[in-house]
Amino acid sequence: MRFHVITIFPNMLDSYLAESILSRAIEAGVIEVSSYALREYTLDKHRRVDGRPYGGGPGMVMWVQPIIDVVEEIKNTLAKKKKEKIKIKTIIFSPGGVNFSNTIAKKVVKNYTDIIFICGRYEGIDTRVKKILRAEEWSIGDYVLTGGELPAMVCIDVCSRQIEGVLHAENSLEETRMASHEIYARPEIFEYKGKKYRVPKVLLSGNHKLIDEYRKRKENTIGK
Ligand code: SAH
Repeated sequence: MRFHVITIFPNMLDSYLAESILSRAIEAGVIEVSSYALREYTLDKHRRVDGRPYGGGPGMVMWVQPIIDVVEEIKNTLAKKKKEKIKIKTIIFSPGGVNFSNTIAKKVVKNYTDIIFICGRYEGIDTRVKKILRAEEWSIGDYVLTGGELPAMVCIDVCSRQIEGVLHAENSLEETRMASHEIYARPEIFEYKGKKYRVPKVLLSGNHKLIDEYRKRKENTIGK
């Protein structure tokens, strides 16, 4: 799966992608993440990518032209991959979009080869971008961030976990096994400020039937 991130801050993605599971997935060629510096695509001679909103009001609006041009370039490059059947999905991040979820991630991973993420900044993106590209708007939660770069990382992370070969057995998908949010590891008793914090007895019992029942009670069912 290829992820294409359009942003005015391409460096923001680097450190997260350079470590751990995602970095291994990139190295193994299971996922590919490309960033596109939006300023390089603007026709404005001062390299600006945004302007005042029609109708007045606070904040700046990201222009149509640079975004459409970069998406065209991505699509033209992909069209040259003659051996592959390319399926592209284009996403604009917006706090007012549909709530991104594991269920959406699974569908996208199954049905597309390429996802283009358009990261907003300032007041957001000129509405015509959505219309021209027939893009979907995604939100990652009910709060307002300063930009779409964190949402892009969140979606890349969540989608990647759904791709075969990204996770190894020891941290496999919650949806295919029982996963609980109440978990313990050594030591059996942790003492803090005179108080003893113990691991629930059932987990020490060795009785797998009882352990399974305990985990079932505490199970997280996200994506099931
Ligand atoms: N005033 C705007 C918010 C702009 S926030 C509004 O009410 O819609 C700037 C950019 O950050 C947005 O264009 C979007 O790309 C991103 N963003 C902020 N919060 C987000 C969220 N919860 N989910 C996804 N993207 C978000």
